[in-house]
Amino acid sequence: MKYQDAVAKYDPVLGIEVHVELGTATKMFDAAPNTFGGGPNENTTPASLGLPGALPSVNGKAVEYAVRIGLALGCEIAESCRFARKNYFYPDVPKNFQTSQYDEPIAFDGQIDVELEDGTIVPVQIERAHMEEDAGKNTHVGGAAGRIHGAEHSLVDYNRAGVPLVEIVTRPIEGAGERAPEVAAAYVRTLRDIFRALDVSEARMEQGNVRADINVSLRESPDAPLGTRTETKNVNSFRSIERAVRFEVARQADVLDAGEAVVQETRHFHEDTGGTSPGRPKSDADDYRYFPEPDLVPVAPPREWVEEIRAALPELPAARRRRLLGEWGIGELEMRDIINAGLLDQVEATVAAGAGPDAARKWWMGEIARLAKQSEVSPEALATPEAVAELQQLVEAGKLNDKLARKVLAGVAEGRGMPAEVMAADGLEIVQDDGALEAAVEAALADNPDVVEKIRGGKMQAIGALMGPIMKATRGQADAGKARELILAKING
Ligand code: MN
Repeated sequence: MKYQDAVAKYDPVLGIEVHVELGTATKMFDAAPNTFGGGPNENTTPASLGLPGALPSVNGKAVEYAVRIGLALGCEIAESCRFARKNYFYPDVPKNFQTSQYDEPIAFDGQIDVELEDGTIVPVQIERAHMEEDAGKNTHVGGAAGRIHGAEHSLVDYNRAGVPLVEIVTRPIEGAGERAPEVAAAYVRTLRDIFRALDVSEARMEQGNVRADINVSLRESPDAPLGTRTETKNVNSFRSIERAVRFEVARQADVLDAGEAVVQETRHFHEDTGGTSPGRPKSDADDYRYFPEPDLVPVAPPREWVEEIRAALPELPAARRRRLLGEWGIGELEMRDIINAGLLDQVEATVAAGAGPDAARKWWMGEIARLAKQSEVSPEALATPEAVAELQQLVEAGKLNDKLARKVLAGVAEGRGMPAEVMAADGLEIVQDDGALEAAVEAALADNPDVVEKIRGGKMQAIGALMGPIMKATRGQADAGKARELILAKING
């Protein structure tokens, strides 16, 4: 069934679980370094290898980061909470259990506002945010598509085993309707931006720092009880999240229309087709035989400490966006463009360095972004906010016009110094010598009597036809405003 037909007939409900890897120096329960990469099994200790007799201890920084995340999501912070063993056997979990939290998460009952592309705000309820450890990584060699089926042998790397995670679980997200795919992606993007603002994770989706499990179910109408859900695991980009939701909505609608029941199961997302395929069946009460972790004491964050963390929270992305919209007086769409281009920090710093918001935005989103795309580097590698502010200052002082400023900027991007230096070195300053400009204007008037007639007849836009020759004669360094004044003065006597 087509997606549009599916959402016309059924009401989709989402539930999203996001895992974020914390950027602490060491792992969750031992002193092994928490770094991406490294040779296989280099970043391990007996504890992260699950060797007999090795005892865990809690990483205080990870607890602080979890509290920071909980507070930013509007959650209550538990006065006391415990870790639990989630038992299952899989080679990438060396202890045969994952140390997680079960009935006592560190943070619970939160809510965040998610803003969609068109400015619509969707509130999302957070059920819980709990601490746990990541698993290692299996590599299956010799089979197709890296799957265990048909593999000749498998390798396991425990560098990631024990990396601190916070898992954030929503309550059912209802009322999204046909915008469910967009809501799912926008929610994860909002979390990603919050993690970055909090400085708790690099939050790079492509490195798996942030991973989303997307639950989707359908029901006949918004008043009907929740339908049976599927959980598409480890979706790793915003686009994939949208595609996975679209696919599941359409697929489940087909199942229901055929009079069959949706099977409660995990599913895999496939980047190449945009589809999902069955994983393993999943009941609500999977038998993980959770029980309290006997090797760790409960975590009881002192209230004063929690309040200190709350007071030190940075400005969060939504509040910052609202503040800058007010300060800069630009439109919502323009703001979103800046954010989507990843240039908000640069534009804000350029304004702080003295440029007007419009000018700061114009340079970063225009010429600098263009140069960056051309040379395949990031815009911030080409110019500093201070350089952009200085460039704009030279324009406003009448020393550079737009065209010359772009030449100067190219020199700045090449690493040849600040704008004033490049301008001086290349002799790009606007011709202030009135004699030279006057001569160029007179020559242009003499060469174009037809244009002069039009201007005399009141067709002011014809002035543009004289600018080409004037700029050419002055090597682009004429002050356009002054040239215009001169033209009118000479024609009108
Ligand atoms: Mn988890």
